[in-house]
Amino acid sequence: MIDFTVRIGVFVLIFSSLIFWQWYWPRASLLQWKQRWRHNISLLMIGALCVRIIQPLLLSMVALFSHNFGLFSMLGLPFWAVFLLSILLLDCLIYWQHRLFHRVPFLWRLHRVHHSDPELDVSSAVRFHPIEILLSLCIKALAVWLFGIPFEAVLVFDILLNASAMFNHTNARLPVKIEAWVKTILVTPDMHRIHHSRLSLEANSNYGFFLSIWDALFMSKRNHALEGDENLKIGLPESKTYQPASLKEVLVMPFKTFKRSR
Ligand SMILES: [Zn+2]
Repeated sequence: MIDFTVRIGVFVLIFSSLIFWQWYWPRASLLQWKQRWRHNISLLMIGALCVRIIQPLLLSMVALFSHNFGLFSMLGLPFWAVFLLSILLLDCLIYWQHRLFHRVPFLWRLHRVHHSDPELDVSSAVRFHPIEILLSLCIKALAVWLFGIPFEAVLVFDILLNASAMFNHTNARLPVKIEAWVKTILVTPDMHRIHHSRLSLEANSNYGFFLSIWDALFMSKRNHALEGDENLKIGLPESKTYQPASLKEVLVMPFKTFKRSR
């Protein structure tokens, strides 16, 4: 229960601070925010409900099978080392999971819901299809089990990941000099915008959500949009103007076949 309260508390605090940031210093004018917020917040609610049902089940399964199991417990490392390694490992896993969701056709069907947002702002950070959320949860549970990742590290990582996802979807930008420094470690809004481009080449770069080191290490980092950051077109890759008109359309997107360049 403490875990749940901390998660919600931090979420509300960071979400409202970022709304404040993008409200006073918007990067681009948001013309469709009402409809987008309706879709994105609805997805947040549906996703949260699914997680609330499935998570206790997964956790008890992991607890049941992970008794003295897991790579970390075999290595006999001190807690602080296990904690730091777990954070790095989980973030690296999320990076590769994200790359996989772009590469594998049936996973892309789910993930393209996130990319169908025609504008970006803090609410885009929660725009995920519930099936993608449940799949991510299973992948994470598997890693927790295999490596014996401690509960504290999972909680801190989840908070860091959610906070940075909200931060890098915000419709605002850091001052140029600070941004150049921050993006050597963290994924910034300028970096993540490029990942939301309608150009496939750009959408297949900057996969990180928290640390930017993985994009640098695995050579997927792109510092600027091909036609300049100001001319970047946000939306579903390989489409010109596509945007879902209703929540139902958002939810059935994975099961529809799309023609290119709509
Ligand atoms: Zn993506």
